[in-house]
Amino acid sequence: MDIEQANEQLERLRLEASGEAGKGKVASYIPELAKEDPHQLGISVCLSDGTILSAGEAQKPFTLQSISKIFSLIVALCQNGQQHVFERVGKEPTGDPFNSIIKLETIKPHKPLNPMINAGAIAVAGMIQGKSVQERLDCILDLLRRITGNPHIGVNEAVYCSEKKTAARNRALAWFLKDSGVLAGDVEETLDLYFRHCAIEVTAEEVARLGMALAADGVDVRTGDRVFPAEVARICKTFMVTCGMYNASGEFAIDVGIPAKSGVAGGIMATVPQRMGIGVFGPALDEKGNSVAGVKLLALLAKDWELGIF
Ligand code: GLN
Repeated sequence: MDIEQANEQLERLRLEASGEAGKGKVASYIPELAKEDPHQLGISVCLSDGTILSAGEAQKPFTLQSISKIFSLIVALCQNGQQHVFERVGKEPTGDPFNSIIKLETIKPHKPLNPMINAGAIAVAGMIQGKSVQERLDCILDLLRRITGNPHIGVNEAVYCSEKKTAARNRALAWFLKDSGVLAGDVEETLDLYFRHCAIEVTAEEVARLGMALAADGVDVRTGDRVFPAEVARICKTFMVTCGMYNASGEFAIDVGIPAKSGVAGGIMATVPQRMGIGVFGPALDEKGNSVAGVKLLALLAKDWELGIF
């Protein structure tokens, strides 16, 4: 692939998709996120030899939000094994919004349907082991720092505090999980870990590297080191297809056809098995919480570069 030509193609597609941003709105239920300029759009692609291609705001830091749910799941699976994890959280997609509480009560047993919705990710946070919240967070940070090669990856304190102060819904989910026996241990500590890992700050370029590690079945292509087992990568990529774009996952699978996980700060991590990781940042969201311009850009790129896996 000619790098210069590929960068030009990315920029052309980025410009075409950026018009969509006007159709969306930045998340405001976490007040700190509402400060973002909705018209930003950046993309980075990490190829299987570690080469990075980029266009637009690829170096602009943003918080992972729900993209972090993939990495907390990786840590929980590595520490506890599949049986322990899936006794407490399911493997089924939900047609409900990511923060919905309804099925927690109506479905029995009362375990969250999957680890990509908030209830499921809070249950997963509860399984991460360590003597303190900081130690548990460090397990996730270490993994991200190792794959990206950036030892400074950390939590955006303003976004973390902003969510912590306003997270009535997530608190309700967590306490319901406690009541149902899904969450063991201290609920406020687990919520604190969840808010912190959601507020981990990255760039689109770093997200592309993270996506590439999943594409390479758990191998960091920069160093050739295995960072998590292939079986864990397989589980994560499957969740990305079935639940990664919340209740728009089916539509995304048909229109784009790449395993992907989005977050309400406007990020999307996509992973094309064996070939590439893609990081997108576009903070204006559709009503389901996915970046409008980001989804459009991935659809254009998937078509142009024939990236769909189906
Ligand atoms: N921290 C966010 C929340 O719990 C993450 C949600 C998301 O990105 N969809 O609401």
